[in-house]
Amino acid sequence: MLKPHGGELINRIIPEREKESILRDSSLYPSLKVDREVLLDVENIATGVFSPLRGFMTKEELFSIAYNMQLPDGNVWTIPILLQLREEPPFSKGDRVLLRNSKEGVKAVLDVKEVYRLDLRRIAKLIWGTDSEEHPGVSHFYAKGEWAIGGDVWLLDRVDTPFREWILDPEDTRRIFEYRGWKRVVGFQTRNAPHRAHEYLQRLGLEISDGILIHPVLGWKKADDFDAKDILRAYDLLINNYYPRNRVLLSGLATAMRYAGPREAVFHALIRKNFGCTHFIVGRDHAGVGDFYDPYAAHRIFDSLPADIEIEIIRVTAVFYCSLCDTIASDKSCGHPKENRTYISMTHIRKLIRKGQIPPSTIMRPDIAEALLRSYDLVS
Ligand SMILES: [Zn+2]
Repeated sequence: MLKPHGGELINRIIPEREKESILRDSSLYPSLKVDREVLLDVENIATGVFSPLRGFMTKEELFSIAYNMQLPDGNVWTIPILLQLREEPPFSKGDRVLLRNSKEGVKAVLDVKEVYRLDLRRIAKLIWGTDSEEHPGVSHFYAKGEWAIGGDVWLLDRVDTPFREWILDPEDTRRIFEYRGWKRVVGFQTRNAPHRAHEYLQRLGLEISDGILIHPVLGWKKADDFDAKDILRAYDLLINNYYPRNRVLLSGLATAMRYAGPREAVFHALIRKNFGCTHFIVGRDHAGVGDFYDPYAAHRIFDSLPADIEIEIIRVTAVFYCSLCDTIASDKSCGHPKENRTYISMTHIRKLIRKGQIPPSTIMRPDIAEALLRSYDLVS
C-alpha cells in the first residue's frame, strides 16, 4: 500500500481523558465560533485526510501552494485550506483558541501561528484561474472573508452529520483494504448520483484493480448537484444489485467542492492517496464548472507537478452513449461520427427527474432513476 502523502498519516484527535480537562478549563481560553465547513476541514486535518497538513495554512504556506503547487516542505499541494473570517480576529501568535460551533459546543483547539489579510482576487486568480464571481467556487471563497488564521489544530468532537455512518477515516479504509487483501485500489471521485458513464469508468477501474473506493463528496456543493442522501442511496442500489460487493467500498468524503478544475484534480488525488488508493481516475473536466477550464487541463496538470505524488493517475477521455455501438464508449473505442453520440449530462438528468420523467435507460439505469425520482417527490 502507498504511504500517506508526506510519509505518515496525521492524527490530531485528542483522547477522551484529555478532552475532559480541556472542557473543564475552557473558560481560561479565548474562543471563536466557526461554521460547519471550518469544522469539516478541522476533522479532515485531524484524521489525516489532508495529510501532511497539521492545521490551517499560514501566509507562507498559502503563497507556496498558490505559486509553486507545493508546501514549503516540498510536498505537492494545490488547494488552500484556510480558516477565513469576515472580520479581523483579536488573536495573535501563540494564542490557544477554542473553536466552537455554538456557545457551548467546543469542537476543536487552534494554536495560532499567524493572523493575516488575504488578497482574495489575487489568490482566486492563482488557484481558480479567474477572479470572476460567476464562478461558484470563487464566489464561495470571497464570501468566507478576507481575514485568515494560520495554525495547527486538534480535534475534540466530530461534526454532526446525518451521514456519519457513511464516512470512513483514512485509517479505516486502509485497514479495510488490508483486510480484503487489496493491493491495487482505484479511487473514484464523484459529486453526483451514478449514470451510465460513471458506471463505465468504475467498471474500467474494477477490471484493472483488486477493488475500487467510490468516494462521493458530501460537503458543500452548488445547488444543481444531487444531495448526499440521494447519491448514497443510488450508489447503494448500484453496488448491491450490479457490482461484486466485496470488490467495492463506498464511503462519503465530507469536504466542500471547490470547482477548481485541474488544481482540484490534484487535491482529489492526494486525498485518495491518504485513504490508501494506489490509482485515481481523472475524467474529462474533472471538478470543473461551466466552461472555466479546458476539459483536459485536469490531465495535463499531472505532467507539470513540482514533485512525484506517487499515486497513479488513470486519465480517461470523454465518455458517451453511441447508438451504433449501442453501448457507452469513448473516442478511443468508438469509430462513429458525432451524430450517433449522446454525451451524458447530469444537469440534463436532473431536469428530467424534476419534471417527473425517467431518463432513457441508455444514460441512467431505470431503477436508479426511479429511486431519485421518488426521493425528489418526497421533498417537493
Ligand atoms: Zn460507436
